[in-house]
Amino acid sequence: RDRHYMMMIRSRTPGGKLTPEQYLAVDKIADEYANSTIRVTTRQAFQYHGIIKNELKKTLQEVNDALITTLGACGDIVRNVMATPAPDIDGRQAQVQKFADELSDILLPASKAYHEIWLDGEKVYSGKEEVEVGEPLYGDTYLPRKFKIGVALPGDNSIDAYTQDIGLVALFDDNKDIEGFDIIVGGGMGMHHRKPETFPRLGDHLGYIPKEKVVEVVKAIIGIQRDHGNRKNRKQARMKYLIHDWGLKKFKEELVSRLGYELEPWRELPEFELDLYLGWNKQSDGNWFLGLSVENGRIKDEGELQLKTALRKVVEKYHTEVRMTPNHNVLLTDIKEDKKEEIEALFHEHGVLLDDEIPNLVKFSMACPALPTCGLAITESERALPDVIRDLNDVVEELGLQDEKLSVRMTGCPNGCSRPYVADIGFVGRSLDQYSIFIGGNPSGTRLNQKYKDMVYRKDLVEEVRPLLEHYKQERTNGESFSDFWNRVGIKEDFQIPA
Ligand code: SF4
Repeated sequence: RDRHYMMMIRSRTPGGKLTPEQYLAVDKIADEYANSTIRVTTRQAFQYHGIIKNELKKTLQEVNDALITTLGACGDIVRNVMATPAPDIDGRQAQVQKFADELSDILLPASKAYHEIWLDGEKVYSGKEEVEVGEPLYGDTYLPRKFKIGVALPGDNSIDAYTQDIGLVALFDDNKDIEGFDIIVGGGMGMHHRKPETFPRLGDHLGYIPKEKVVEVVKAIIGIQRDHGNRKNRKQARMKYLIHDWGLKKFKEELVSRLGYELEPWRELPEFELDLYLGWNKQSDGNWFLGLSVENGRIKDEGELQLKTALRKVVEKYHTEVRMTPNHNVLLTDIKEDKKEEIEALFHEHGVLLDDEIPNLVKFSMACPALPTCGLAITESERALPDVIRDLNDVVEELGLQDEKLSVRMTGCPNGCSRPYVADIGFVGRSLDQYSIFIGGNPSGTRLNQKYKDMVYRKDLVEEVRPLLEHYKQERTNGESFSDFWNRVGIKEDFQIPA
């Protein structure tokens, strides 16, 4: 007798974009086949949890019927391509979205196995042909490990460009058309607590490339990782370790030898910031989009908070597009000025708080799913952070620090799916109900944090952080941020707070 295995399904949705029809299908499928929730991920995808194994195929078929794929959302290939999500504030994001869509398609595996197995597609290759045709980009054995790409707008680091295997920053000409990209390579979050040879790493500035050559360059970079990435030790298989071992100079030389030309020098960029795009924002066409904070990315109905129902009603009635953001929030787009009040009222009727009604600390927090849905989880994350963050917010308010932008990110294991190693405060699952505390990143994702405490029980997390906040409050100068302060003062494991 078949056991009732529960499965997870994850979408490939470049830039997190869903049409109204797609979102409504996603909502319906969640009720029919999953646990009636939709989980927005930190890579702008959605996940279904609780799919029963023998309904997996039917669920996948319905997802594909809505013109959404799950192909390439997992596995050792290029994952969901991320992109700055704010819809068309001044015309530039639309181009970034289009580019992310195209790049995502180009980087899909050529194999038709997904369609044959899950969608009852015609068998396209016989076995022999498959060997001959193969995978032009991925080869016979695919990549050594997953591969992450994100596309950013200058100044907007909502995709955390330095944590991607390849971060592309689009640069525009005077007509606001993309003319090329600055390329960042070798970022990645995962580590292992007891293996010092594993570590989170920020990407390096590789150079600039005109738009017409960028696909060729991206493919060549993937080719280097395919051919030289570590296939013996999976814990060292991400491209960040190849670049760390080789050094950027050797990596660049290998790239140039494959391309037959040099990259142009890196072009200076404005400083990156993190914008969550919550609340009302105006689009270039005069319409508005509304950013909704989704705590820990879970769209659900629970008690007085009827977020899932409210979203469905708004998308149905006002035909809004949906963008899932890299901070697991949701943007609803193309809203007419005269509908804003009604929509706000509808969300309030369903217990959904809007931008200013939510504490900063909650808005800037992220958690990965962890227990019970992630097989790699050591500790709780999504289910634990709401209490931890509210207790921490009490401390923040007591100290009068509630206006600070403090990013707090929690994960259930060191893989770091919610990108905790660039947060101001990272709580990383360490052992049974115990966490490592990292401090000193920043909300804009341009600095790694460092370990401050190890093996802290969940109940003690807030009290371990409190003295850091108190000392920061007393000693900071010129309005410096929490993490700027602690980087200036100095951070290392178990350091003593100065008297
Ligand atoms: Fe990712 Fe680990 Fe969280 Fe699972 S528990 S979602 S692998 S960080």
